Order: sequence, then C-alpha cells, then structure tokens
Amino acid sequence: MNCVDVAIIGAGLAGVAAAGDLAAAGKSVLVIDKSRGIGGRMATRRHASTRIDHGAQFFTARSERFAAFVNGLVESGIVQVWSHGFPILVDGVVCARADGHPRYACLAGMSELAKQLLPDTVGCVLGTQVTSVIRLADPVGDGMRYEILAGESTVCLARDVVINMPPVQLVAVAADLLTDSERERLLAIEMEPCWALGGCLAEDIPLTTVALECQHPVLGWISRNHTRHGAASEPLSIMVHASGACSASHLEDDPLDVRNAIETAMREIGMPLHWDSDPFIHRWRYAKPVTGLGADVFRLTTSPGVYGVGDWCIGGRVEGAVSSGWSAAKLLL
Ligand SMILES: Cc1cc2nc3c(=O)[nH]c(=O)nc-3n(C[C@H](O)[C@H](O)[C@H](O)COP(=O)(O)OP(=O)(O)OC[C@H]3O[C@@H](n4cnc5c(N)ncnc54)[C@H](O)[C@@H]3O)c2cc1C
Repeated sequence: MNCVDVAIIGAGLAGVAAAGDLAAAGKSVLVIDKSRGIGGRMATRRHASTRIDHGAQFFTARSERFAAFVNGLVESGIVQVWSHGFPILVDGVVCARADGHPRYACLAGMSELAKQLLPDTVGCVLGTQVTSVIRLADPVGDGMRYEILAGESTVCLARDVVINMPPVQLVAVAADLLTDSERERLLAIEMEPCWALGGCLAEDIPLTTVALECQHPVLGWISRNHTRHGAASEPLSIMVHASGACSASHLEDDPLDVRNAIETAMREIGMPLHWDSDPFIHRWRYAKPVTGLGADVFRLTTSPGVYGVGDWCIGGRVEGAVSSGWSAAKLLL
C-alpha cells in the first residue's frame, strides 16, 4: 500500500505548485491526475507537426514570489515576454490597447510551466480518476487518516490531502468530507465554459499583433499560436476561443456546428481560416471562474489537513492557481 504525507489530487498548476513546495520541505507526496499529462487547463496539445496551446494563452506575474520564479524561467530561455497587451475587436474594429505590462508564454508550450513547478522526484500517478476521499475511522500506520479511491481501488493512504480541481468536481470527490454549508459555498462558485478551435494554417490571418481579444457574440479570443513558441521555423497555427456567452449557450452542441459558427464569424471579421490540415475543437466545461472564493485556499473545517486549491479560490488565472497551491503547502508545513 502506497502511504504518503500528502496526496495531491489534480495536477493542475495549483496541485503541482503545492507538490513542489511540500517535496522541497521533505514531505512524501503523491500527485494523482485523471489525464495522461500534467498541467490541467495550462494545456498544450501535439497537433500535426506542432504544439498548440488550447487552454491558458499567457500569464502575468505580479506577486513577488511568482515574478521571481518567472524571471528565472525567462533567464533560462523557458519563458518569454510574449506581449505587452493585446488589441481588442469592438464593433468590427481592431482598437489598440497595449498597457505595457508583460504577458508571458512558455516557448515549449504552456504546459511547460507545470513541469517547471514539479520536481522530477515527486511521484505521479496519471490516467487515474479519483472518485472519493474517505476519512478512516482510526488512523493507520504512521498517522495515515485518509484513503484515496479510484472506483473500487485504493490509490494511496495519506495523512493530508490537497484537492485541485474545479468546485463542482471537488464536491463530488470530497462528498463524504464536506459539511452542507461548505458544499453550498463551493457550488455557488460559477465557472464559465469555453469552446476552443485550433489548428495549422496554410496562410496566416491578417493580424499584425500576436493575439486579439474580441468583444463579439461568437468570438472571445484569437491568437497566432506559433508566435508563442519563438522559432521562425514554427508552422503557422492558430487558437480561437468562442466567447463565454456563446460557449455557454452552445455547450452541448455538436462540435462540428460550433466549428462552423467560429469559422463563419472569422470570415465575417475579415480573418478567414485557411486550414493546412484538419483542425481540432475542444470543449472546456469549467474554463474560467466568474466568481471566486475570496481566499487563497478552501479549508474543509471538519476534515483536518484537507484543502481545496485552484484558480477559483483567488485570482481566477494562472498566477492565482499557483499562489493557491503555494498557500496550501505553507499551511501543511
Ligand atoms: C480556454 C482557456 C483559456 C485561458 N486563458 C488564460 C489566460 O490567458 N491567462 C490566464 O492566466 N489564465 C487563463 N486560463 C485559466 C488558467 O488556465 C487557469 O486559471 C489555471 O490553469 C487553473 O489551474 P488549476 O490548478 O486551478 O486547475 P486545473 O488546471 O483545472 O487542474 C485541475 C486538474 O485536476 C484534474 N482532475 C480533475 N478531476 C480529477 C479527478 N477526479 N481525479 C484526478 N484528477 C482530476 C484535471 O485533469 C486537471 O489536471 C484559461 C483557461 C482556459 C480553459
């Protein structure tokens, strides 16, 4: 039986940030994720002959610790300043709007940030969907008080647990540990969905900047994906996100219909998509928090040593997710 000081369920940025700090302090840690890779919504997909970032598109670094971490990655050539602000499409017109504040991107793909936060020495169990966390009636072994289950199988026993996933999913996994008011508080946190269309282009779109925010009924964001990865030899590629409103009202639609709607909207704004090969479309059910917890971490009051973490706690973005994970680690040390 695998017994660890801390089980981290979810290898999004918050989970790996917590794991990194806990491991550095000498704790035994096991990271478990249902996906085949780490990074969660900081997602990069291999597509045709390139990498396309279909989740987070850039990040800011405003807090002291995160800024120092990111500066180190810039010096090592892992991260670059990708932009100093993006223009915005309003009523069909592209309006300049740079604010001078750096927006960062990882040259090898956005999921690289998660790899940089998680030391190689930390154990990971991937492709494993945790279904529940159970509090043991009596601690066993060296203070093991929680059992982490994937269906009928025990993944591990742990003294403490960090749960990193959107609130609706956390409520399902921690059902046996939450009080009624905690469940209500979590379910009140709203997350907006996002349809993402990406692929390689035979011809670039007529946009001189790396990306464009959109105030548009269908479009939310357009980025010339290849510009994030630096090399001039990088094949032309694009990522288009549908707007929050469009994604929500077409969440259950056939992906092909959503693709058609995005392509039509792109044509109408004068940026037709000339695909080089078949594009892909991805549905994020819980893309971005609309409301938040208002605290760095979610503490389960009747389950000592169990914390919920993620961007929905505070900040709602990459930087918020990382700081949530770091805060949970601090509480467990
Ligand atoms: C389309 C899109 C665009 C975005 N753009 C930006 C941007 O430009 N800038 C920015 O700062 N932020 C952006 N974000 C938000 C940013 O990606 C998130 O804030 C951040 O990545 C969240 O990290 P997290 O650790 O909170 O959670 P997540 O990344 O959601 O990680 C949760 C992890 O838990 C795993 N998991 C879930 N349930 C289980 C289970 N039962 N068992 C095991 N594992 C499980 C998942 O596989 C996932 O890996 C964007 C997000 C999306 C989707």
